[in-house]
Amino acid sequence: MPSLILKKGREKSLLRRHPWIFSGGVQKVEGSPKMGETVDVLGAGGEWLAYAAYSPESQIQGRVWSFERETPIDAGFFRARLKTCLEARQTQGLDIPQGACRLVAAESDGLPGVVVDRYGDWLSGQFMSAGAERHKGDIAAALMELTGCRGFWDRSDSEMRTKEGLMPHAGLLLGDEPPELVEIDEVPGRFLVDIRGGHKTGYYLDQRDNRRAVAAHCKGQDVLNCFSYTGGFGVMALLGGAASCTNIDVSAPALALARRNVELNGLGQENVEYQNADVFEALRVYRDEQRRFGVIVLDPPKFVESRQQLQQACRGYKDINLSAFKILRPGGLLFTYSCSGLMSDDLFQKVVAGAALDSGRDARIVRRFTQAPDHPIALHFPEGSYLKGLLVQVM
Ligand code: SAH
Repeated sequence: MPSLILKKGREKSLLRRHPWIFSGGVQKVEGSPKMGETVDVLGAGGEWLAYAAYSPESQIQGRVWSFERETPIDAGFFRARLKTCLEARQTQGLDIPQGACRLVAAESDGLPGVVVDRYGDWLSGQFMSAGAERHKGDIAAALMELTGCRGFWDRSDSEMRTKEGLMPHAGLLLGDEPPELVEIDEVPGRFLVDIRGGHKTGYYLDQRDNRRAVAAHCKGQDVLNCFSYTGGFGVMALLGGAASCTNIDVSAPALALARRNVELNGLGQENVEYQNADVFEALRVYRDEQRRFGVIVLDPPKFVESRQQLQQACRGYKDINLSAFKILRPGGLLFTYSCSGLMSDDLFQKVVAGAALDSGRDARIVRRFTQAPDHPIALHFPEGSYLKGLLVQVM
């Protein structure tokens, strides 16, 4: 088997079970492995460390599949690992039949580059690394068999794939084509998911528990749902008895689906608004109009892709949080999130504190949020922690 031989001292992170091998840590590539092929990873002294997938085009030149030498990386290996992923969700009661669940959370589940969600009877996945791409057939076949799902739709149409030298791609991978929209249970609501045309794999499952938390705080409130996507937080707010809900998103198709989701949950449209607008601008308009809300949700997309963008991202987060503080009623609640992994919990809290200060509002954190438990964080892979949120009450 071809191998990656590491520079002296660069085996340390692997001994701590971190799965990434940076190109700067590689002394030599032996045996001309092909893109995505499994290689032996050896220390500078020739000691065997791991099996990894070779990514020649990426800064992360190897991603570890396994630290156990006895088990070869073949269809049986993937089936066994996927079975473990499913069982981990089942023991927590996360994988309910007509619901939706992240079945595979990439590095955090020991499968670098592989993300798979189940929406009802359908699987939707992303294969983001050369190794994942190479083995996607085996992975899809094992998951179809283990879950009894009817089809596997590939949503590997992310630009991130180009960093691995892979072309973005979407299409049917196995089984039947999923319908245009799939209906899922997210108790107490129901949602339509567009697996083929929606963002990422179709829906943001990482916010599931946080959407539920919002429902409990909305009775009789005017709710502003910023970055609404298909209306998740808004529907939950209305189910929780909100007096009104305003959804804002730049995506018109997302808002059209939000409207259908409100309907699906038997909620009237009378008190629901859909604003196809930029949140940064819309919040300023509300401030100028002196519109006020009892509850505001801020769930922006990832603002940070690299360390160089961190400062600019902080300005973005501060801007929207500042505007939100200005238009909250006394006693009002702000649910504010960041899904940027490079933004630490501490830094996010500082940014929100700065926004509160500049708005002149006295505010306190009353709860903290993280990603749903089907998006676990492997202790040896802290990068898997990305979603953070605060519930802040203004006085
Ligand atoms: N809260 C949603 C997920 C939000 S994802 C849920 O629970 O499902 C982020 C959303 O922000 C996307 O729908 C995207 O279209 C939207 N978006 C991105 N930039 C925006 C901007 N500047 N103004 C308004 N919406 C924006």
